[in-house]
Amino acid sequence: MPDIPDKELQGKLRILFIGAHPDDADIQFGGTALRYLQLGHSVNYLTTTNGDAGHHLLGGGALAQRRYNETQAVAKYLGINYFVLDNHDGELQATIENRKQVIKVIREVRPHLIVTHRPNDYHADHRQTSLLVQDAAYLLCVPNVLPLTPRLEYNPVIVYHQDHFTKPEPFTPDVIVDITDVIDRKIEALSLHESQVYEWIPFIEGFLDEVPTDTGERLAWLKTMWGRTALVTQFTSQLKPGLSSETFKNVQFMEAFERCEYGSRLTHANVNQLFPFGVVNF
Ligand SMILES: [Zn+2]
Repeated sequence: MPDIPDKELQGKLRILFIGAHPDDADIQFGGTALRYLQLGHSVNYLTTTNGDAGHHLLGGGALAQRRYNETQAVAKYLGINYFVLDNHDGELQATIENRKQVIKVIREVRPHLIVTHRPNDYHADHRQTSLLVQDAAYLLCVPNVLPLTPRLEYNPVIVYHQDHFTKPEPFTPDVIVDITDVIDRKIEALSLHESQVYEWIPFIEGFLDEVPTDTGERLAWLKTMWGRTALVTQFTSQLKPGLSSETFKNVQFMEAFERCEYGSRLTHANVNQLFPFGVVNF
């Protein structure tokens, strides 16, 4: 399997987050995305479903269209590309057809780094998306798979975003990214998913009555209630020798990533290029 060559990592990086739902990238990766963008790198988001089950009052085409518009508002706000596959929410399967859709987008973006869900996650669409990315990894370079779409000449590096699931294995924080300086902008991008952060998620989690109706107030509310639990102390027992909680004493908010064994590997030789702002913990 062709590993990513060093010379590919010297210039502008292309980063691709592949999530199951239109708001997953902004929730799990929005801060790190902003750090790449600050350095002039290219960030791309792909959602494998159109999100058309994520609401209690709306559904079907109207919801899919609303959520598509939300993705494009984020794309404009951040200056990124946001790809949406037109698959039903809640019904995603790791079929050959869906694998081909994912391969096509990856080959179009030609990312150096892909970020996705771990294969064990609470939502079936997250699990299936993770499987689709893993299934696509080797085939990205195979010319007879989608022969009319130019193959990749090397495999992207693949990592998983953080989660709190422990079986069969808990998440391993191989790279930790300080997002303290960009947390406000992360939440502002997230707030553009209005149907989710102000409507659906508060409904399904049972706190809809806490959401302010005033536009300015609700953004302030979102900033106080979202992302405030991602503290590095949760990883204290998993830090390698030489790293300590002291290393992170000014880190209020962070996002962490675990290496995937498929695609090119994240190694000591390439991690500083791929995560120029990351604390390496492997
Ligand atoms: Zn999701």
